[in-house]
Amino acid sequence: MEILDGKKLAKKIRQQVKGEATQFVERWGRPPSLHVILVGDDPASHIYVRNKERACKKTGVASHQHLLPQETGQAELLQLIRKLNADNDVDAILVQMPLPKGIDSGLLLSAIAPTKDVDGFHPINLGKLYAGRAALRPCTPLACMRLIEETGVELPGKNAVVVGRSTVVGKPVAALLLEQHATVTICHSRTRNLAHVIAEADVLVAAAGSPELIKGEWLKRDAIAIDVGINRLEDGTLTGDLEFEAAAARASWITPVPGGVGPMTVAMVVANTLTAANARLTG
Ligand code: NAD
Repeated sequence: MEILDGKKLAKKIRQQVKGEATQFVERWGRPPSLHVILVGDDPASHIYVRNKERACKKTGVASHQHLLPQETGQAELLQLIRKLNADNDVDAILVQMPLPKGIDSGLLLSAIAPTKDVDGFHPINLGKLYAGRAALRPCTPLACMRLIEETGVELPGKNAVVVGRSTVVGKPVAALLLEQHATVTICHSRTRNLAHVIAEADVLVAAAGSPELIKGEWLKRDAIAIDVGINRLEDGTLTGDLEFEAAAARASWITPVPGGVGPMTVAMVVANTLTAANARLTG
């Protein structure tokens, strides 16, 4: 079994992005820029935003944070997004989820210009993903794919099982696996006999948000196991959706939690910022 080290791979990606960011500055006279909108004081969201800012700093991407109070209204947020859409020096816009109650996150995500939608959640970008067309693609699913690529295992014809069907992870990662010619099964909370489906998986992507839901003994021998889940236990420790030790005993490759998909997602945010900036400016 080998550990798929997300921290190490994220560093490699940041180095590549740094090189591209330098070229960008030479060509356009300014660095590529990411604008993050964060509403309220959810501690986890603040950590995620700080991690993105750090990754930007390490790669020469300009990071701007719009930290807004909990009571910020929807109209004000829409106004800010429209202002950023219209600003030619803004390359990428990210609205940190979750948003306070009463704000329609779907409406806000749809208001972001699709060319600046670094998270790839705009319906146009999600539609293009399913249509197999070039577009900004969601960062966590891209992170999963890049980790799988690192194993060197060829995906065509492999059985891939995704646990979770959210728009953030499950559905888009399934689309990306399908694009790479895997035979994809999506499981969710109503799936019957999860163990039985997982037993067929050459590649497993777990994104249910349920601590150690997936037992190690369910895994097919030598499966690739990508654990997206981040679950905080009562004692404060973080755990994934997989029973790590037992899963590691059967898998050929496995991502740890923390240190797997998490740091890779952050690296893909800066990589997508570069993609967005280059695509928009070179038109
Ligand atoms: P979500 O709650 O929106 O979706 C969870 C999905 O899992 C749902 O489709 C649900 O049907 C399915 N599910 C729940 N319980 C199940 C069960 N017992 N059996 C089968 N399916 C089940 O969550 P999300 O936003 O997709 O996130 C999933 C997990 O990934 C969370 O732990 C989240 O914190 C984590 N996450 C990590 C990153 C990262 O960067 N590492 C990014 C996004 C999300």
